[in-house]
Amino acid sequence: MNVVILLGAPGSGKGTLAAELARVPGIRHLSSGDLLRGAVKQGTPAGLQAKAYMDAGNLVPDALIAQMVEEVLDADPATHVLLLDGFPRTLPQADLLGDLLARKGVHLRGALLLEVPDDVLVARIAGRRVCPACGATFNLATLPPKRDGLCDACGAPLAIRKDDDPATVRHRLDVYARETFPLIDYYRRRGLLHAVDASGHDLEPKIEAALRKIHD
Ligand code: ADP
Ligand code: ZN
Repeated sequence: MNVVILLGAPGSGKGTLAAELARVPGIRHLSSGDLLRGAVKQGTPAGLQAKAYMDAGNLVPDALIAQMVEEVLDADPATHVLLLDGFPRTLPQADLLGDLLARKGVHLRGALLLEVPDDVLVARIAGRRVCPACGATFNLATLPPKRDGLCDACGAPLAIRKDDDPATVRHRLDVYARETFPLIDYYRRRGLLHAVDASGHDLEPKIEAALRKIHD
């Protein structure tokens, strides 16, 4: 198994991109946010612990998310390329991941950074809508639903994620700047960082080129 880390602020398009790449056979997308939201929805012990942190736009404890990611890795050792989206998010998590991969003999191929200016991030998050029924995501600016306010996939009314309201978004961007931004340097110093300008549309060719570079 090869692991590639996706780095980028909330709204950088990381999740959308990863979901798209995961359609390629042999690539699996693991989103720590989806993993946590799933646990909250199911009411697992981890989910119960995580909920209050998430609703406030704060990070859940490092050990909690590291443990959840490890369980996923154990359950699916066959994945050819694993795209880690949202984990690691702090320097301690980066160390935890390093230990975890070393223990499992898994190779970290690189970290792909999606670079987007702050004002673009805020605008993108403001337009984000999710389907509470099936989990599909939309964006009023870049990926609007076909029928106003309704999910393309299942027809349910769309909602704004609790942590996407403007005050919480500003807080999440602060948390990103403080906790996650240092990871850029962390991976750069290890020669693993690949940065891509993700402010425009038509990202896919750039990403594919970057992934090819990471893979070779
Ligand atoms: P976004 O990238 O849009 O901020 P995510 O879906 O990745 O949102 O994460 C949503 C929430 O889940 C975060 O605000 C945080 O509370 C929690 N979370 C996700 N990944 C991690 C992580 N690696 N460490 C701690 N908390 C996390
Ligand atoms: Zn739906």
